[in-house]
Amino acid sequence: MSPHRPAAIRPLADVLVNQIAAGEVVERPASVLKEVLENALDAGARAIDVQLEQGGVRRIRVADDGCGIARDDLALALERHATSKIATLDDLEQVGTMGFRGEALAAIAAVARLTLTSRAEGSAHAWRIDGTDRNVAPAALNQGTVVDVAELFYSTPARRKFLKSEATEYAHCDEVFRRIALARPDIGLQLAHNGRVVHRLPAGDPLRRVAALMGDDFLHHARTLDADAGPLRLAGFAALPAYSRTSRDAQYLFVNGRFVRDKLLTHAVRQAYADILHGSRHPAYVLFLELDPAGVDVNVHPAKIEVRFREARAVHQFVFHALTRSLAESGAGIGIAGGD
Ligand code: ADP
Ligand code: MG
Repeated sequence: MSPHRPAAIRPLADVLVNQIAAGEVVERPASVLKEVLENALDAGARAIDVQLEQGGVRRIRVADDGCGIARDDLALALERHATSKIATLDDLEQVGTMGFRGEALAAIAAVARLTLTSRAEGSAHAWRIDGTDRNVAPAALNQGTVVDVAELFYSTPARRKFLKSEATEYAHCDEVFRRIALARPDIGLQLAHNGRVVHRLPAGDPLRRVAALMGDDFLHHARTLDADAGPLRLAGFAALPAYSRTSRDAQYLFVNGRFVRDKLLTHAVRQAYADILHGSRHPAYVLFLELDPAGVDVNVHPAKIEVRFREARAVHQFVFHALTRSLAESGAGIGIAGGD
């Protein structure tokens, strides 16, 4: 039937394999930033410094003070499916790190100019690897790792065309930064864009971090939540209707410290607000759901923004009831009802 003859089947070259796979992990500067920030968290960083140029398209530079990468591991860090985070299926089911697929750096190296400079704990000095030629050379760095990603999609012009304006790409990066900053108030974070510092967030308590990122007004209209039922815990801040928005820009849901977009959870939240929030208004919240890692599968998609719950019904009910109860309490928000 087909006018085509069968062509010879050949394995794809490694570079091409990585460029194809990169499509799933690296969609835009913000996805690079997310992966690199998560690596810094996994490395136990206490302070992370982000510098962006031109919305992250021209450059994303992330410096952390984490455990670093040993010289002999630098080349492996750039290999596909190479990771220090899991080794067995058991590990995968209990995974407590943000990363585990060993794909991000390989993908980034395939579509951008990547250099990795790192000084592992106990190493006399730092080493740098060039993601293109994989040369390793001595370098200067006090502690931790600097990941430098320049000229995103220089090698894949077709993808480069899908990038939006600098302002839009920057806004996506800012959003990624905010999500991580909300989830990790215990870590000091700084973000600069085109040489201007946009966020300077010292390590501190969750309340201060939420105030810095969501605004005092949000907190004044919010209830503090901390409910648990067996292995499930829901904590965070949920704004009363007076603070509701016309867009969904103030909705943050985290599962075990990971920002997620989940239909089930969003539905439970929406339902809890149903009686008090009307029409086209959107609730505003920063909520952290914690549960046994074995009860949630984060390995649904490379970006890990979707999750699947083993006990979906129980999770839905718990979130709905915990939030409903909190919103129904009389009095106003934090600092008003709380009476400081
Ligand atoms: P994954 O995070 O899924 O393991 P990545 O490609 O993101 O895969 O990273 C590969 C490996 O490189 C990690 O497993 C880790 O050992 C190392 N690595 C990457 N970034 C850092 C960092 N900032 N500090 C220390 N080690 C890092
Ligand atoms: Mg990673």
